[in-house]
Amino acid sequence: MTDLHSALQQHFGYPAFRPGQEESVRIVLEGRDALVIMPTGSGKSLIYQLAALALPGTALVFSPLIALMKDQVDAMKRRGIACTYINSSIEPAEADRRVRGLANGEYKLVLVAPERLRSGHFLGALTHADLSLIVVDEAHCLSQWGHDFRPDYLHIARMRERALASGKKPQATLALTATATPRTADSICTLLGIAAAARVITGFNRPNLFFDVRHAPGKRDKLEQIRELLTGPDAASAGIIYAGTRNDVEEIAAYLRDSLGLNAQAYHGAMPARTRDTVQDQFMSGDLPLVVATNAFGMGIDRPDVRFVLHFSMPASLEAYYQEAGRAGRDGLPARAILLYSAQDISLQEFFIDANTPDANDLRDAHRLLTAEPGATSDVLATRTGMKEIKARMTLELLNSAPGQLDAAAVSRISRMVNERRDHRVHLLGVMRRYAEGESCRRRAILDYFGDAGPADAPICCDVCETQTTLAEMGAGRTAETQSERAALIVLDTISGFASRDFGVGKTKLAHILKGSAREDVSRFAQNRNYGKFQALKLAEIDALVAQLMGAGFLKQVGGDRPVLQLTARGEVALEARLAIDIALPTLARKKAVERQRVSASIGGTVAATLALIHDGRTVAQAAAERALTLGTIYTHCAQLIAEGQLDIDRVVPRERQAHIRAAADTLGPIQALAPLKSLLPADYDYGEIRCVVSSWRK
Ligand code: ADP
Repeated sequence: MTDLHSALQQHFGYPAFRPGQEESVRIVLEGRDALVIMPTGSGKSLIYQLAALALPGTALVFSPLIALMKDQVDAMKRRGIACTYINSSIEPAEADRRVRGLANGEYKLVLVAPERLRSGHFLGALTHADLSLIVVDEAHCLSQWGHDFRPDYLHIARMRERALASGKKPQATLALTATATPRTADSICTLLGIAAAARVITGFNRPNLFFDVRHAPGKRDKLEQIRELLTGPDAASAGIIYAGTRNDVEEIAAYLRDSLGLNAQAYHGAMPARTRDTVQDQFMSGDLPLVVATNAFGMGIDRPDVRFVLHFSMPASLEAYYQEAGRAGRDGLPARAILLYSAQDISLQEFFIDANTPDANDLRDAHRLLTAEPGATSDVLATRTGMKEIKARMTLELLNSAPGQLDAAAVSRISRMVNERRDHRVHLLGVMRRYAEGESCRRRAILDYFGDAGPADAPICCDVCETQTTLAEMGAGRTAETQSERAALIVLDTISGFASRDFGVGKTKLAHILKGSAREDVSRFAQNRNYGKFQALKLAEIDALVAQLMGAGFLKQVGGDRPVLQLTARGEVALEARLAIDIALPTLARKKAVERQRVSASIGGTVAATLALIHDGRTVAQAAAERALTLGTIYTHCAQLIAEGQLDIDRVVPRERQAHIRAAADTLGPIQALAPLKSLLPADYDYGEIRCVVSSWRK
């Protein structure tokens, strides 16, 4: 036992311990409880395996990762360790056999899912078992302050107390996790009843990971970023792309395969288990380089050569992010953690929070159901109450795991806890958002969050640090000359102007201002020095410019519900020095732009330009096409011109159609609104057309 090193070599074939391993094993062997916090991939499982081998009796290991238990047990068996697992995936008869084996001391290690503690049969068998250790893997699941709270974990403390009270008490309790803030760590120890546990915390820094946050306003821009990445230096390397929804997962996987010709597979919870296993096996064996997945993929994925983990949308917390991103570069070679951020991601996460937070009524409904029909399933609850499946499952799990009698008071207690938890998740989301929107070193931000005061050293750190270097180089850049280079600066200048007046401008409003739109909420910005500067572009084209500038790191979007645009440090420098930024103006618009600007300049304004075209004999549709405006806009121009007496209605609407509109109007009496009139006319009559005719009568 004193010679842990030879045990390490004998059982695992490793020449040396990794940081934190030996210390943790020793603590446990001395009979002290421990909380071990070590980054993903640093070798936590070896700690409890080696301790279990060194102690007489059976180590009971709680883990939520049912899907991985078989693999973990197979790997241990290959090392000659007597072990097994018990979870819902095995036949009841076989489970019984293993439970008896546990009671009879046949195993050194038994992996179980915590929900097993709901089974009286299992608890009975435990009283006979000779437990060496109680191991709580993924211990952050205990804490409602953690990112992956599992109410069933709360049973472990009572089971532990009973075991300690028995004659054959376990040597120690060992909790392990990769991600816990100091607060989560406290909470884990309290909830397990191991307040005095020794804490082994190795640094959180992963110097071989490069952290990159890229702002992209929408899905299409994100796909474009993926395209750039996967056709650039990272092409052909192994990677995981995480997305927030199953639909996104499938869409991205299809995009990678069909549009980029890459070997990629989707992975999410709604796929058949067989298919999921195949994807995971192929990825682990190296046959498959790319997996696009929801967070269902990856717990325990330890393929060493993953070169990047890209998040297509922002996860719910920095803990979850770091854990997922941490699957890159386990081999210690350079790897990248990329987060594509769009302010809308916040809403998706808020939706998720609501989706599995039952309110007081949900809990009462479920309680009533359980009282009438003990043992009712979440399916039954969902159909009876109309609750969504995930919410029903969470609700039952909460009620079933409540200690003591489940009465009305208990239900209100749970309800209060659920509310607190919701608030906390909103807080976690805020932390994640500040990471994404921040302008300081990403690595430092992560280490600070996890309470690691060590240096944030890394050969290549993060996008922010990288920008500091490029900023210095940028200063010496060429100044803007071409039309597109100036256009880029106009965008930056407009946004900067808003920021300096202490309120932001959103993407849509910005586009309208630059276009010089007459919309009421925009025309009050007519004094803005850039109002109407991009009159020649379509709104969508202006959006595309903004997206390009975001993709190139000059702009970002911040704020939740009503996100606003901001310059990044890079954007500030570029604007200040009026640097040439390489972006592409939409070519189609560019050609017409010159021509249109000439027209509008010569006759003064956009309405006048329409008048010129109509007088030249164009129909409304032709004028719209030529000016790249909608039919509605041209009609609005016409209605105005008609009202001002500058345009004759006959030039806009054929006589026959005017007559139809008149006939419909006669059945209605005085015209208050256009809608009743439109409803009397065939569907091909446009509102704009009707507006023009009405406008001519009024005239
Ligand atoms: P964690 O649970 O912390 O994410 P694992 O226990 O899965 O990490 O270990 C990650 C990898 O490191 C595994 O492949 C494991 O075999 C390997 N490993 C663990 N300890 C050592 C060691 N002392 N020397 C070399 N490799 C190790």
